[in-house]
Amino acid sequence: MKFSEKFNHLKYLEVDEGILRGLKPVPCTMCQKPTVFIDICAEAPFCSDECMRDFYIQMWEGPSEI
Ligand SMILES: [Zn+2]
Repeated sequence: MKFSEKFNHLKYLEVDEGILRGLKPVPCTMCQKPTVFIDICAEAPFCSDECMRDFYIQMWEGPSEI
């Protein structure tokens, strides 16, 4: 779900489910679409549940070092 729909009720600097609403749109970490929602845990901007999930999948299940 897009965060612009899911967290539309948030005001600037309000937090819900670990997502903070910022002021200026910045590129989503995964798809580069502009978003004002930032995941506090990863300290990274995301535009949707899907992008955030993909980020964590890459983080935990991505290519191993060895
Ligand atoms: Zn995205």
